[in-house]
Amino acid sequence: MKNPFFGSLADFARGRDEGRFSLEEVTAYFLDRTRALSGEINACLSVNDNAINRARQLDNRLRREKAPSALTGYPLMVKDNLEVRDMTTTCASRILEGYRSLRTATSVSRLLSLGAIILAKTNLDEFAMGSSTENSAFGPTRNPWDPTRVPGGSSGGSAAAVAAGLAPLSLGSDTGGSIRQPAAFCGVIGVKPTYGRISRSGLVAFASSLDQIGPFAVEAEDALEAIVAMAGADPLDMTTVARDPEEMRRDFSQTTLSGLRLGIPSALFGDGLDGSIRERLLEVRKALSSDGVREEEVDLAHAAMGINVYYVLATSEAASNLCRFDGVRYGFRNSGTGSLREMYEETRDKGFGLEVKRRILLGTFALSAGYQEAFYRKARKVQALIRQEFLTAFSRCDVILTPTSPTPPFAFGEKTGDPLSMYLSDIYTITANLAGLPALSVPAGTDKNGLPVGVHLIGPPWSEGRLLALAREISRQRPAEMPRVHAMHGNAPAGAGGRK
Ligand code: GLN
Repeated sequence: MKNPFFGSLADFARGRDEGRFSLEEVTAYFLDRTRALSGEINACLSVNDNAINRARQLDNRLRREKAPSALTGYPLMVKDNLEVRDMTTTCASRILEGYRSLRTATSVSRLLSLGAIILAKTNLDEFAMGSSTENSAFGPTRNPWDPTRVPGGSSGGSAAAVAAGLAPLSLGSDTGGSIRQPAAFCGVIGVKPTYGRISRSGLVAFASSLDQIGPFAVEAEDALEAIVAMAGADPLDMTTVARDPEEMRRDFSQTTLSGLRLGIPSALFGDGLDGSIRERLLEVRKALSSDGVREEEVDLAHAAMGINVYYVLATSEAASNLCRFDGVRYGFRNSGTGSLREMYEETRDKGFGLEVKRRILLGTFALSAGYQEAFYRKARKVQALIRQEFLTAFSRCDVILTPTSPTPPFAFGEKTGDPLSMYLSDIYTITANLAGLPALSVPAGTDKNGLPVGVHLIGPPWSEGRLLALAREISRQRPAEMPRVHAMHGNAPAGAGGRK
C-alpha cells in the first residue's frame, strides 16, 4: 500500500531531494485538507500556526544541507495528551482547556530535531480514557470510512487523521489498546512499542506503568522510522531502557518468514468474535503459512482476566495521577466565593467528564484502606501470571497473532450507556500493556459492510523490528484500501507522486 500523497517516507524524501515539491507546498496542502475536512471528521483540536513558517525555514536550510534526514519536512500530527511547547495540551478535557505547554515531550522533540513538522494536535477520549473518542469534551471524531461510526479510541483523532490523509504520520498513546484499536477501526498501522522503548516524558500520565507512545502510519517502514527516531534512554523518564534503536532496523530487514513460529491462542477466539474478523484472521494465517510461517498453539488462559486486572490497576494509577488537576496548578479553576476545599471540588466536578470521574472513583476505591489487599494487590499478582504466561508462550513461538478488536467499528452511542461493553473492546490488546510487550495492529481487509478489520501481532520485549517485518508482509499480501474521503478535497502538490 502506498500513501496516496508521497508513497512512503522514503519516497517523500526522494521527491523532496529531487526538488519536486517544496516543504511549504506540502505543509500548506495538508493544512488546507485538514481545514476542509474538519467538519466532517473532527480529528484535530488545534492547528499549529507556526507550521508554514517552519516549512519555509526548512526549505531554506535544505538549499544548504547536503544530506538531510529523511524526516526533514515530514508532516506529523500529535495526540493532544503529548506536550508541545507553545501549543495547547488539553487532553480533550475542560480542565485543561486553553492550557499552553511550557515544554515538548521527548518523543516529539526527537522527531522535531530530525526536521519533522507538527501540523496539529489530535482529538482523543478525555485523558485517553475510552475506546471510541466519544469521551472528548470537544466532540467526537468520526470514522473516515463511515461518519456514522466511531474511529475507535482513545487515539481516535490520530488514527482518523492518517486514514483520511490529513497527515502521513501521527502519534498516539496506548495504555490498554488506544493506538492499536483505533488503527484497526480506521484501517491503518498502529504500534505500541515495548514498555521503556520510548520516553513518556511530556505525555500526560494516565496509568504510568502501562502508558506507551507510538506511531500511526500507512506503511510499516514509516512506523519503524518514527519509532527508531523516538526510541532510547531519556534522563527525564527513568523507565526508559538504553538499547540501540538500530536493532529495530536490523531486525526489520533480516526477519525471514520461512520457519517463523506464529503463536495462535485459539481459546481466545470464542463467541464474542465477529464473523468477518474471524474470516480475515483465517485468511492472514493461510497466506502466512504459504510463506513458510509455522503455527504453534499457545495457551494464554490468564489473558481472559486482562480486562479485570487492567481496570483495577489503570484506575488506581489514574486516580493518583489526576490529583494534580486541582484548579491550583494547571488550567481551569472554578473560583467561587467558597473555601479552598469547595474550589477543589467544584473545579474537578466541572472540569472532568463522566468517564474520568468514574475512573477516579474506581481507582480511589481500589486503593482505599482495607480494600487494597483485595483488589490492587490481587490484580498485581494476576498481572505477574499474565506476564509469565507470555514468556512461556514465547519459548514456543516468535510472534502471537490475534484479532485487534472483537468487533468492527461501532455506531455512535452504541456503547456509551454500557461501560462494560465498551471496556471489552480492548480484550485482545490490554494484555500487551499488562506484560509490557510490543504489539501492533495491521489492516487485513474489510468486513461485510466494507469497514476496516485489523489483525494484532504481539512479540517478546524489543521485537518491534520483527513485528513490523511481519506487518509489512501482511500489508503486501492484501494491499490496504483507503476510505473514499481520501480522494476528496484537493490534489497533492504537483510531483508529489502517489495516487494517480
Ligand atoms: N480503552 C482503554 C481505556 O479506556 C484503553 C485506553 C488507552 O489505551 N489509553 O482505558
